[in-house]
Amino acid sequence: MGWKAVFRVLVLIAIIEVTIAQQASQTTYLAGEEPSNSSVFESREGGLELDFSYHDHDQLTRYLRAVSARYPSLTALYSIGKSVQGRDLWVMVVSASPYEHMIGKPDVKYVANIHGNEVVGRELLLHLIQYLVTSYESDAYIKWLLDNTRIHLMPSMNPDGFSISNEGQCSTVHGRHNARRYDLNRNFPDFFKANTKQAQPETEAVKEWISKIQFVLSGSLHGGALVASYPFDNTPSSNPLNAVFQSYAHSPSVSPDDDVFRHLAMVYSNNHAKMSKGVSCQSGSPRFEKGITNGAAWYPLTGGMQDYNYLWHGCMEITLEISCCKYPPARELAKYWQDNRQSLVKYLAEAHRGAHGFVMDDNGSPIERASIRIKGREVTYHTTKYGEFWRILLPGTYKLEVNAEGYLPQEVEFFVIESHPTLLNVTLHTAKRIDGGPYYRPVGLPPRPAPVTPPSPGLFSTFTNSINNFMSSIFG
Ligand SMILES: [Zn+2]
Repeated sequence: MGWKAVFRVLVLIAIIEVTIAQQASQTTYLAGEEPSNSSVFESREGGLELDFSYHDHDQLTRYLRAVSARYPSLTALYSIGKSVQGRDLWVMVVSASPYEHMIGKPDVKYVANIHGNEVVGRELLLHLIQYLVTSYESDAYIKWLLDNTRIHLMPSMNPDGFSISNEGQCSTVHGRHNARRYDLNRNFPDFFKANTKQAQPETEAVKEWISKIQFVLSGSLHGGALVASYPFDNTPSSNPLNAVFQSYAHSPSVSPDDDVFRHLAMVYSNNHAKMSKGVSCQSGSPRFEKGITNGAAWYPLTGGMQDYNYLWHGCMEITLEISCCKYPPARELAKYWQDNRQSLVKYLAEAHRGAHGFVMDDNGSPIERASIRIKGREVTYHTTKYGEFWRILLPGTYKLEVNAEGYLPQEVEFFVIESHPTLLNVTLHTAKRIDGGPYYRPVGLPPRPAPVTPPSPGLFSTFTNSINNFMSSIFG
């Protein structure tokens, strides 16, 4: 980029940041506000204490406020909305730039406790916050991660479900749903099948959140099994006979980025103390080879969050089932933290793998919503308002296809190596128009799979649904 172009981008950024700050001020909790009753969390040394016990919504809120007051240059606390019963859906950013997106650097996230009674992830994210802020000065790797990544952590997407859940209940569904009895991980728009479930406030808040921030990588934390499960969760078709007679052997639903998703799942599994051993949680429950599985191969579901993140927003999300028991005794939390600490950190660092860059016009101004495709991978990503894009890819040679309304399409061949990401800057030239009409048609979302004749409603489909519901309430 020339200096003029840099200047233009900077001016643009300044304008956009002001707009964002104005919009965010309604929901952002500012670090300067004095948290109430935070003293219980402050030790005599002036640090923050976080014990291995369960924290209810008020305690969790106090802890997050205390951290943001103690570490104002490394954290920012905001709420993306409220649950049905009015509890804040808190997100804590941990980064060297907590309040502002770093141009060219990825935003990543973890969301825990989407099922209210699956609670280990909720506590682990509090410990992850603690670990990141206290390691920044002393640990070069954590410093690098926070200097180059904005990490958004949502300890609970379902605080209402959590509030009625009970410690020690390993496999019930009590507390799983939100206060209106909806399963939030069946409540997102679905690419493969129409989702007729009424959208819930928690889901709506998350949808708006991920439409405003371009997350590159994400993990959704669950309990009830020990496995890293990757897209797709749903399938283009489902034969009811398969579900009835082979309910434990569904077919995988392979995404265009299957190699990348397998790799991401393996990073979590391999860095975990025991997930990769693929041990069955209890007799009769499945074993997972290397501790990973395709979502639909385990059991298909409609309206899940991970497929939505990937297909709607180009955010690679996997589902992390991190405890056989959904709500284990508090005395086991320290062990769960030890088992998962390295996985939680290493997984997020995968956002720095592959290729990223900027799409600009002839003047060096960023092009927003340019479509980004890797040849042979039928999924479309889009550039941000700054013209940025990220594409997590394994080492190899690829062809990037870039399209934007009013510009000539571009193809760029590039390669990805293991040790560091490839920087790709693409300039699009204004398209010449023929007879005033468009020179080309921009590429939109991938075509929907061929319509599948739905099974006629009746005994089979009812039976299939109840098997899938049964499967999904036993497990994560
Ligand atoms: Zn779950």
